[in-house]
Amino acid sequence: MFRTLLLGIAIGFVIISCSSHKKEDSSQVQKKPTGPEVDSTEIVDRDMFGVPVDSFEVADHQIKRNESLYLILDKFDFTPREIHAFTQKAQSVLDIDNLRPGQRYRTYASADSGGISRLVWQPNKLEYVVFDWNQDSLKAYRAARPLTKKQAVASGEVSSSLYQTISEEGASPLLAYKMADIFAWQINFFGLREGDSFKVLYEKQFIGDEFWSVGDVLAATFNHRGDSFRAYKFNKGDMNGYFTAEGKSVEKALLKAPFKFNQRISSPFSRNRYHPILKKRRPHYGIDYAAPRGTPVLSVGDGVVTKAGYDKGSGYIVKIQHNGVYQTAYMHLSGFADGIRRGAEVEQGQVIAYVGSTGMSTGPHLHYSLYKNNRPVNALGIDLPSSESVPDSLMDDFKKVRNSLDQQLQKTQPVPVDSTGQDDKIVTHLSDY
Ligand SMILES: [Zn+2]
Repeated sequence: MFRTLLLGIAIGFVIISCSSHKKEDSSQVQKKPTGPEVDSTEIVDRDMFGVPVDSFEVADHQIKRNESLYLILDKFDFTPREIHAFTQKAQSVLDIDNLRPGQRYRTYASADSGGISRLVWQPNKLEYVVFDWNQDSLKAYRAARPLTKKQAVASGEVSSSLYQTISEEGASPLLAYKMADIFAWQINFFGLREGDSFKVLYEKQFIGDEFWSVGDVLAATFNHRGDSFRAYKFNKGDMNGYFTAEGKSVEKALLKAPFKFNQRISSPFSRNRYHPILKKRRPHYGIDYAAPRGTPVLSVGDGVVTKAGYDKGSGYIVKIQHNGVYQTAYMHLSGFADGIRRGAEVEQGQVIAYVGSTGMSTGPHLHYSLYKNNRPVNALGIDLPSSESVPDSLMDDFKKVRNSLDQQLQKTQPVPVDSTGQDDKIVTHLSDY
């Protein structure tokens, strides 16, 4: 219902004419393959998994449809006993029940005997598992190919054209998503206007030469309806988040709980809970507070009421949209506070309703749900945004970081999109939020 409403009122927006520059700054990060020791005096050709390829016949394969681990190993003339040993070993390093057609593996046959002496399983492009039959004992270990980060700048103008086909490939929708997350408290991403523009400095992750994913956004500017917003990533001491040029948090905190005073939690967030009325297991996408009937319920943040009505299961319910990312819902209410109706603006801490036991409820309590990007999340389990500013003691550090990020952001000028900029084309879509 709420989703439909959003889809109804908003016009899709598309961010176009993006451009990117790969920058010189490139660093090796994350774990290195933990493969065999490399003897530095010996010149050996090793493949991407660290295996010396000269001594083997190397072949690449893909899992075919209906092909089990057993069938694969049988194909390579392993005995049932060897297959059993392999399966036992594999269970500790690989989700063998989750082998899917199309996943890759590489075999290394010994040049003399033709028997397989190594096998590298690749559940995805980043991770791999090595099986090594060394002197009849089977060793298995997990490793990851090194991830390289490069800084890139993307910039663009917002066009109000209707939905465009989202480029499914590449990770660029992820960049749009990350920016929307950062600016969620300042900018209504459903209300972007033609002429709004942005520039963002971010990390691109590569495996070898191949693009893997969008990493962190390091700095961004967004011009929206004549206002200019800036955010800089800063991580030092207890501080980790995005801050304005003055060192203020770009995020606002939500209240931990929708009450003025502590209330007892009678049922926590759970993906699998026994339901006392339905008498079966089902997820509980919220937190139940056992509060007396009539206890005032507070909005956990500033926002707009998107629903104040009655639902069969939820009873009297209020839903509030806080920004493009966060939404909350309050259920089983006995009634609404004055002025609480769809479209009403509310402030953090404002009384919106009163605890009751309407709908599917066994007694007075509040069911409180927090949604992030339309998915229910555990309000007590996730890292909620913090509204803390950079303290004086870290201000000098922050300014250094900010100035350097500004320089990097400014150094690069936008260029027209070309075919090589493919994965920087940001096309974003309402339903992503
Ligand atoms: Zn509940």
